Amino acid sequence: MQKRYKQQYSSYYNTALVVCPNCGEDALVKNVGNYKQASLECRHCSLRKSGNELVFYKAFIKLYCPSCAHPIRYEQGKLKEKPQNITVPCDECDASFQVQPKIEKYLDSYGRETGLIHDPVFGYPYFFQEDFKGKLFWAKNREHLLEMESYVSSGLRTLPYRMRMVERLPTFIKEAKNREAILKILQKWKNSYK
Ligand SMILES: [Zn+2]
Ligand SMILES: [Zn+2]
Repeated sequence: MQKRYKQQYSSYYNTALVVCPNCGEDALVKNVGNYKQASLECRHCSLRKSGNELVFYKAFIKLYCPSCAHPIRYEQGKLKEKPQNITVPCDECDASFQVQPKIEKYLDSYGRETGLIHDPVFGYPYFFQEDFKGKLFWAKNREHLLEMESYVSSGLRTLPYRMRMVERLPTFIKEAKNREAILKILQKWKNSYK
């Protein structure tokens, strides 16, 4: 009798396994949907980070000098605190003014410059990912990996009800001709997680 696919895990949306920036092993990001509560923990090297550390402010000033009408532009990023008034000089007439800047909050994540898939808060690359015939194959975390394995290895893949995980899988993962290769990668990933 063929094994019918049945969903086993459902709570894998909230965490992501990423490559630890410190030791290169797997680190766990929790609360990927909310940077304020997000945390990163590595059980191999004890690195800890919180999403709050990524919050920075940018201050902008754009005005015409009240004395000589010369345009004054000021921009400063990477501020940990919201700045109050800033003193800006005019390049043209040497007057200076106390101005309240416009403030923009932003997240300064890491690692986004490389072309891989990253966690949405810290920006570290997913631990389970590799190229599969020119397409990026990845698992967000261990539960996601096991769920894909269970789906790909089952003979009967009819879905008794709507399953977001399976419906979202790219076609190459579901194709019968790729089945063996996909299972092999999943097995390799499972072995790499210690
Ligand atoms: Zn580490
Ligand atoms: Zn001026």
